[in-house]
Amino acid sequence: MPRLSSVCASCGAPLETHAGPGRPAIYCGDGCRRMAEYRIRTLVRRIDRYEIARRDLLARGIDPFDDAGRQRRLRALRRWITEDTAALRGLLG
Ligand SMILES: [Zn+2]
Repeated sequence: MPRLSSVCASCGAPLETHAGPGRPAIYCGDGCRRMAEYRIRTLVRRIDRYEIARRDLLARGIDPFDDAGRQRRLRALRRWITEDTAALRGLLG
């Protein structure tokens, strides 16, 4: 499926559209591609940490002393995972 966006996935600058064969550009240049690669690595590591923390909290089960706190933390982790995954998807074009 062809990519419809015509802006750089890293900085949002308009991309020059080119007709012809080949994968359409996602980034406006090498600088933006490298910046995106760096942000992608950072996001992947952070999502991993959130997933581990979430699994750990789930595995511990109900907290008899502060389960509301545990539920809050689980909701926050789920939200951060969703946000970072969306950011990752945007960078990958
Ligand atoms: Zn760019």
